[in-house]
Order: sequence, then C-alpha cells, then structure tokens
Amino acid sequence: MRDVEVLVAGGGFSGLGAAIKLTQAGRRDFVVIERGSEVGGTWRDNTYPGAACDVPSHLYSYSFELNPNWSRSFSDGWEIQQYLRDVAAKYRVVDKFVFDCELLSANWDAAARRWVVETSKGAYTAKIFVSAIGSLCEPALPDIKGVDTFTGEIFHSARWKEDVDLRGKRVALVGTGASAIQIGPEIAPLVSHLDVYQRTAPWIVPRRDRTYPKLESLAYKHIPGLQRLARTLIYWGRETFVFGFAINPRLTAPARKMALGNIARGVRDPELRQAVTPNFQIGCKRILLSNDWYPMLERDNVDLVTDGIAEIRGNTVVSADGTERPVDAILVATGFHVTDSPAYDKIKGAEGRTIGEVWRAEGMQAYKGSTLAGFPNLFFLVGPNTGLGHNSMVLMIESQLNYLMDALHTMDEHGLATVEVRREAQAKYNGDLQRRMDRTIWTTGGCASWYLDAHGRNTTLWPGFTFTFRQLTRQFDHAAYDSTAEVDA
Ligand SMILES: Cc1cc2nc3c(=O)[nH]c(=O)nc-3n(C[C@H](O)[C@H](O)[C@H](O)COP(=O)(O)OP(=O)(O)OC[C@H]3O[C@@H](n4cnc5c(N)ncnc54)[C@H](O)[C@@H]3O)c2cc1C
Repeated sequence: MRDVEVLVAGGGFSGLGAAIKLTQAGRRDFVVIERGSEVGGTWRDNTYPGAACDVPSHLYSYSFELNPNWSRSFSDGWEIQQYLRDVAAKYRVVDKFVFDCELLSANWDAAARRWVVETSKGAYTAKIFVSAIGSLCEPALPDIKGVDTFTGEIFHSARWKEDVDLRGKRVALVGTGASAIQIGPEIAPLVSHLDVYQRTAPWIVPRRDRTYPKLESLAYKHIPGLQRLARTLIYWGRETFVFGFAINPRLTAPARKMALGNIARGVRDPELRQAVTPNFQIGCKRILLSNDWYPMLERDNVDLVTDGIAEIRGNTVVSADGTERPVDAILVATGFHVTDSPAYDKIKGAEGRTIGEVWRAEGMQAYKGSTLAGFPNLFFLVGPNTGLGHNSMVLMIESQLNYLMDALHTMDEHGLATVEVRREAQAKYNGDLQRRMDRTIWTTGGCASWYLDAHGRNTTLWPGFTFTFRQLTRQFDHAAYDSTAEVDA
C-alpha cells in the first residue's frame, strides 16, 4: 500500500489542474488516478460528431495557459482534448497519473487519520482525498421498456462507437439537449432517415462561431495582452447573463427574442415551429447554441417525434401514440447522472456513511462546493452548486483549486492533521445559497431540469456571478472547520 500526501481521483480539467497546482507549489507527493487511458475527462470521452464547447475557447481554457492557436471560437472536442494533452506534457505532470485505474472505494480511517483508497491498480493511503470525478461523466440511460430486445446498435453520446457506420442507416436520436443538437445536424445528411425524439423543446440561440484567420492567431501570440483582453471581454459578456438568470428574469427578454428569431428563421412549417417552441422561460434549462438544428429538422429525411417512447420491440421504436418506427441504430443523448453519480457511493466518511447515502438522505450539498461535514480532509472539485449555466466551468475549477491549495498551505502552517467543515457552517452556507436559488430562473422558470435533485432542489448550479465564488474561495476559512493537530497523533 503506497502512502501519498494527496490522492486526486479523476484526470479531466479539474484533476489535471490539481496536478499542475500541486506541482507548482512544490508538492510532489501526490498521485492522480484516472480510469481512462489519458487525461481529458469530458473531452476524451465525448467523441461524437459535432462535439464542441459552447463557451468560447479563449475562456474555456486555463487562465494560466491561454492558447493562441485555437482554430475557431467554439473549438471541436478533439482540439480541446489536444490542448489538455499538451498542457499535461508542458507542465510535466503526466508521470503523476495512473491511467486505467478505477477508484473502487475510499474510506476514512479515523485512527490513522488517513484516507484508505482501493483502486483497480492497488491500494493507497492519503492524507488528503480530492474528488475530481466530474459531474457530467456517468451516462444516464433512459429506462425504456424492451430496450434489451433491440437488435441494432445502441449507444450513449458519451460512449460513441467509432466503428459503427451510420451512413445510409435508419437512426433514432433520443434527446434534444446540448449533445443531441450537436450530433443531429452532423449525421442527418449521412443517414437514410433520422427520427429525433424530443421530450422538451430546448431554447436555442444562434451560435456565433467563426474560424480564426492566421493573422488573428499570430496577433494573439505576439501582441502582449491581446488574447487576455479578448478573454476578458468574453468573460464580462457572459457574466451579464446572471442579471437575467439570478436577479430579474425579465432581463432575459433579449435572449428570448433572439431564440424566437432563430426558430422563425430556421423553421417554415407552422406545426413544426410550434413543436420546437419551448413552454418555459429561457434560461430555466441550459440555453443551447446552434445555427443548423432547426433547418435540420425540416429536412425530408428527418422527423421530430414528440410523443415519447413507449417501448422498443426488436428493431422497432414504438412511440406513445402506437406508431412503430423501425431503426438500425439508437443514439442516446439523454445526459448524465449529475446529482446521483454512482461514484459517490464509493466514498465513505467518518460516520461510516457514503457520500451517496448522506446526500440521498439530506440532499446533495457541500460547504462552498468543496468540503463536506463528516468527511475530513476531503475536497471536491466541481462539487455541489458549482456548475454554471452561463460561463466557463474552468473559472469555477480554478476557484476551487485556489481553495484547495490554500487549505493545504493552512494545514502545513498550523501543523494540522485533519480539517472537517463544521455542520453549522455548512448548513448556514447552504441555507443562504438555497434562499438565493429560490429567486432564480432555474427555480421559477417553469421547467424540470437536470439541475434539480430528487428533492427538487437545485444542487447543481452556482446562483450568482463567478467573481463572487472566486472571492468566496480565495482563502481557506479555517474558522469554519474543526481540526486536529499533527502532534496529537
Ligand atoms: C459534451 C459536453 C460539453 C461540455 N461543454 C462545456 C462547455 O462548453 N463549457 C463548459 O464550461 N463546460 C462544458 N462542459 C462541462 C464539462 O464537464 C466541464 O467543463 C469540465 O470538463 C469538467 O471537468 P472535470 O475534470 O471536473 O470532469 P470530467 O471532465 O468529467 O473528468 C472527470 C474524470 O474523472 C474520471 N473518473 C470518474 N470516475 C472515476 C473513478 N471511479 N475512478 C477513476 N477515475 C474516474 C473520469 O474518467 C474523467 O476522466 C461540457 C460537458 C459535456 C459532457
């Protein structure tokens, strides 16, 4: 059993960021376990046609590693994946990763004041356990009657089967969320027929994407501060969305107008227009970006099905109205286990309960999205209520990395063996947060979304500006924690 100071589970933007920050702070006694065979997380796993970010790449990248060579505003997934590989190589942290290594369990050993971590490649003990296992990485499959009887190919958007040739095939695309609207327009011209199964119509605004001319990339590379200025402008532009989402929903009116214009331009058929017009306030679910989704729905070889799937029988998808549609492949783009990831059942704290058990009983929550009462020396990256509907997740990840690094520094400075957030501090933090959440469009906007947990609470998003969260996590607030000193050992 190998002992390390810090064990990080997960090697996406969060885990890689942690590896870099730990190394820069001179902390070499750590390991990152990653069940995939390389860094990248989301961008390693989502290889579906059309995969791309929907926050401009200048902002959807580490603040300490801007990339002047992005080929376009909303880079393709493979380009982001290459960026993450390059960053890992540049910062010389690849040797800190153990790939193809699955976290099997993590148990707090109170006597030893260590996390005991079992993995598919052996056991570790660690003073600090960092959960960087992602919130959008466990595919959620719809529970459809008869799905086992399906005779064709069926797979989730995040587990794309590269070897399945969809050309000339009859295909069902289930879902109309962020991944589906990227996949549909890419495959529609190739397949013989595409049925799109829509449960709820999403709001979609135009995607202002463009390729960067060589000269512009050269300017970003050579003119000091230019790319940072571009990033800053994008940042503040995105932050203005918070006024409509979290302060006054009426301020979303321009976005709604833009989205309705997108429908009017993209769809001529009045019945189809009605079917794709959402019946909830814009912003309540994630606003999607596309210029070609609506024109795609009007193609002769594409049908929008709004009746819902009742059953799958052999090679046939049967919708609720009894219509039978034979298909060769079903593409499932129904999102992820966000608030109920099975990974949380693997991590057991000081009271003998797993995170999953605690959250199922009490609701998903943490203190500042980062620590959890009953789980000493555990830190989340992308923990509860740190998701964003309007801006780059990398901003939140870097804020949480600040908090983690300052916690480690504080522990060293005060000779602490353990820190555990006080229950009252956590309760107050979440009480305040949920009161703010009650006023947001995610609560009042009239939709059911994956932002909500089984208790109907939004435990996913941060209800405010990202700079407020940055401020909140700038320093480790020792006073909110119970701690024990190393010398007591
Ligand atoms: C298709 C898609 C598009 C997106 N686009 C954007 C965007 O444009 N802008 C934006 O801000 N956000 C976007 N996101 C959100 C995105 O997930 C975050 O931006 C970011 O990538 C999260 O990084 P992460 O490292 O926290 O998690 P992930 O990238 O999910 O990485 C988690 C890692 O943990 C590993 N792991 C999980 N469980 C285990 C285990 N038991 N043992 C070992 N390893 C494990 C996984 O293999 C994975 O590598 C998108 C998400 C998806 C799915």
